[in-house]
Amino acid sequence: MCMTCGCGIGQTLIAGHAIQRPRKPGGEMHYRVREEGAAHAHPHGHTHDPIDFGTGPAGTHAPGMSQARMVKIERDILAKNNGYADQNRRYLSAHSIFALNLVSSPGSGKTTLLVRTIAALNGAHPHLGNQRRGNAAMAGVDQGRLPQCSCRENPLSRRRERVRVVEKSDTVIALPFSGPPVLACGAWLKNTVCVTRGSEAHVSQLIGDLDSAEARTMLDATVARLCNSLEVQPEIVAHDLHPDFYSTRFAQAYAAQRGLPLVAVQHHHAHIAAVCAEHHVTGAVLGLALDGVGLGSDGTPWGGELLYAEGAEFERLGHLAPLRLPGGDRAAREPWRMAAAVLFQLGRGDEIARRFSDQPGAQTVAAMLQRNLNCPITSSTGRLFDAAAGLLGVNEIQAFEAQAAVRLQELAQRHGQVAPLEGGYRIAESGVLDFSPLLAALADCRDAGHGAALFHATLAAGLAEWVEHAAHRHSIADVALGGGCFHNDILLRSLSGRLAAQGLRVLTWQRMQPNDSAISLGQAWVAARKSREGLV
Ligand SMILES: [Zn+2]
Repeated sequence: MCMTCGCGIGQTLIAGHAIQRPRKPGGEMHYRVREEGAAHAHPHGHTHDPIDFGTGPAGTHAPGMSQARMVKIERDILAKNNGYADQNRRYLSAHSIFALNLVSSPGSGKTTLLVRTIAALNGAHPHLGNQRRGNAAMAGVDQGRLPQCSCRENPLSRRRERVRVVEKSDTVIALPFSGPPVLACGAWLKNTVCVTRGSEAHVSQLIGDLDSAEARTMLDATVARLCNSLEVQPEIVAHDLHPDFYSTRFAQAYAAQRGLPLVAVQHHHAHIAAVCAEHHVTGAVLGLALDGVGLGSDGTPWGGELLYAEGAEFERLGHLAPLRLPGGDRAAREPWRMAAAVLFQLGRGDEIARRFSDQPGAQTVAAMLQRNLNCPITSSTGRLFDAAAGLLGVNEIQAFEAQAAVRLQELAQRHGQVAPLEGGYRIAESGVLDFSPLLAALADCRDAGHGAALFHATLAAGLAEWVEHAAHRHSIADVALGGGCFHNDILLRSLSGRLAAQGLRVLTWQRMQPNDSAISLGQAWVAARKSREGLV
């Protein structure tokens, strides 16, 4: 595709696998990107010369990847994206809009313009190509683990001589009661939105993580599309407790403009509520939310929560023993930091610098822990997985979300089942479940496979005992499971089996996912329950 005007003539190729060989071992490889083909005439009456995009150091985005592999990935991405661009251009042309495909830097707004233009026409989403997937592929990430494009088919495909806007992959969940229309705006990661109409909850297709302008624009457009297609005007707006999420700010602005009541829903309550919505549970239920992170009612990051949920309300019965996050959010990307925090907690802080000598910040982190500087606490299960992976040396820095947990699961699968560690956890009267003894054992474990299997087995045993205590104490037989950590099959199967063996009814997601894509449904369920109880 012509990169100057998008007219479809010419080709853009990556040329020269290694036009500059490194002069010395470890030197930089370079590559060149240029538009191939002679100057060409354009249907709209101008010409231009092929463009040379210059050279750049190879390996910047793909440390350790071969030049040939990187070029192949780039070629594949360009080929696919050229196809998508062509389809989008044909669609716009059918609406008498000429699309100028400017050469510009990322963040210049051209994609936002395309999204808004097509959304304004009829609410369809353009095919945006796979730049994010491409970048991740360049970093060596398994593409199968990445979020899929939000449209299941090309939305701009033609059928019977007319432009067909493909049916979005919205999910309709039947609710056991009717109520006023609710708009729920979801969380930050894996965002979806949900609009209720009567006794139906319509959950949008996956919008994605709200850190990109495209995803935010798509959230705006999706709310408009859902409300238009369902012909509803929301009367209640629900959102996450976190004040800085784009979805929260969108909800607040939407409600303020229309004078609507707002309902803030705690993240893990929403995880459990989504499962309740799918199973029509209107009575009391125990909720076990095992998750990365969500803002708790006490202002700290939660993620390993045992809840009592009934109607629109919930109570926090217990949580995982808090772990420190040295460096805050950075600790979520660097499991070695979580391992360092555990070592410090175990009174073995002097091992940090030696064990993580490859990490330039090891001594600083040890000092931060010593002085309790920038070390917020969390009850997150995801960080517990990270700590285990860091202690076993299987993943010190994560290349993508949940990489440490995925590696641990793979290792455990390969190793095979083991018995839980005797005395590997403690359950306090206060409801805190503490896996410190297990983590101490992992810190001394030389066999990562055995350690990973031991971690999974002991985690499931401790969680099951914790839930059984609460079920007995509160005379509840229903347990709802939610949160992204339940993507882990070993944990899910082992824990479900143990709970079922105790006579508990285990409720899990059905048509939704356990992750944050279900949050909007949970928020809608809580808001609808509040409305029924006259609390809104
Ligand atoms: Zn979550």
